[in-house]
Amino acid sequence: MSTMQYISTRGSMDPIGFQDAVMTGLAPDGGLLIPAEIPHAASSLARWRSLAYQDLACEVMQPFVDLNHTELRELVATAYASFRHDDIAPLIQVGPVYVLELFHGPTLAFKDIALQFLGPLFSRILARTDRRLNILAATSGDTGSAAIHGVRGRERIRIFVMHPHNRISPLQEKQMTAVLDDNVFNLAVDGTFDDCQTIMKNIFRDMPFKMRFELGAVNSVNWARVLAQIVYYFYAAFRAMDKTGCREVQFAVPTGNFGDILAGYYALRMGLPVRRLILATNENDILSRFFNTGVYSLGQVVPTISPSMDIQVASNFERFLFYKAGCDSQRLNDWMNTFQQTRTLQVPLDADGVVDLAFVAGKGDTAETHVAIQRCYQEHGYILDPHTAVGVHVAQTYLCDETPTICLATAHPAKFNQAIRDAIGQDSRHELLDRLVDAETRMDVLPSDENAVRKYMERKIAGQ
Ligand SMILES: *Cc1c(COP(=O)(O)O)cnc(C)c1O
Repeated sequence: MSTMQYISTRGSMDPIGFQDAVMTGLAPDGGLLIPAEIPHAASSLARWRSLAYQDLACEVMQPFVDLNHTELRELVATAYASFRHDDIAPLIQVGPVYVLELFHGPTLAFKDIALQFLGPLFSRILARTDRRLNILAATSGDTGSAAIHGVRGRERIRIFVMHPHNRISPLQEKQMTAVLDDNVFNLAVDGTFDDCQTIMKNIFRDMPFKMRFELGAVNSVNWARVLAQIVYYFYAAFRAMDKTGCREVQFAVPTGNFGDILAGYYALRMGLPVRRLILATNENDILSRFFNTGVYSLGQVVPTISPSMDIQVASNFERFLFYKAGCDSQRLNDWMNTFQQTRTLQVPLDADGVVDLAFVAGKGDTAETHVAIQRCYQEHGYILDPHTAVGVHVAQTYLCDETPTICLATAHPAKFNQAIRDAIGQDSRHELLDRLVDAETRMDVLPSDENAVRKYMERKIAGQ
């Protein structure tokens, strides 16, 4: 069993173990939790290369967790039992690139890889400590359904997910409300997504309520989510090496909150031979601008056809900045304070004139995304979802013969069928989504009022 400690990027917290890191989410000093050291895996690569996804997951995650082999094995088996493909994350050659399909989980998006693991992990920790957890979340569509599917039917856990009533796509609404388990509560709030988020923040600030009702979050900065995502970088690299005989690979990653690509950065730091990570954004390009200039500067969010990448501040980005600061918390604090005050921060460039040699970055706008979907379909008969298409578009610039390019496919195209129809004039379908059309659903409509949400939760937790 590992004794890995977790520290805060801001440096004002005593180190904690894995279990506490998972349950805490955010560090009390406002920083993000990171492992005190990054384990080296280079000498294990040969042994790991032939492992099935689940076995590889145990090997990659073991040094980070305070679970023994048997416990970890059970969790991994539970997590990925719900996936609809034997390989969990199959690698498919599509013309000049390899597409890593991360969408075979229950909600058809890559967030399932992490959240299907987080659910059983929460249960295990709660059972160990004889505690319960009431999760409160606000969603504009995507993360909510993955979170619900991650914890549905789990003992010791209830989940309350607020979404803006009639303001998310009917399909996204159904993916959440067609889950009828007793521990799942969908709250359709008569307001906007921002209203839902404000309600959530206010309730989390109410310490007596938070303690009394054992409130928790499933936010995107939870270390366990990043951890579970490191695995598929290893898995995909091995599959691409098997297919091509190459000794290194590169990854193109459609990026929003920087969680997915951060996992790739950890894989690289652990010793996986990754030539570079190709960061791809849509018009919300704060991160691609950063990696090209060293300046991280806030803009306005514009809605796009790849909505899960429509972000303003990338919540996981601070973890990368910590490493860029040479693991110097004081320096990181200075940057974050500057950013807080001026909405801009600037980091020095390397001798090579770049932020980090491990990254290149670019963006794809709506027109380019449509073209990428069209071309891929016409030339290879493969339909990319709009997020993945942004990655494939940006990857074109960086293709090279000696190094296979793996594009992470973050959603099944049928989830974003309107964009597909606009691009290729045809529908993408998936039986799971077709079945939702006349599925039974359950949700409660509430006014946009934090006290109404509080009362609702109290009532449900009391079992009424
Ligand atoms: C969340 C999401 C992304 C962005 O991933 P980050 O970890 O936030 O960078 C990309 N595509 C889809 C479909 C997603 O759901």
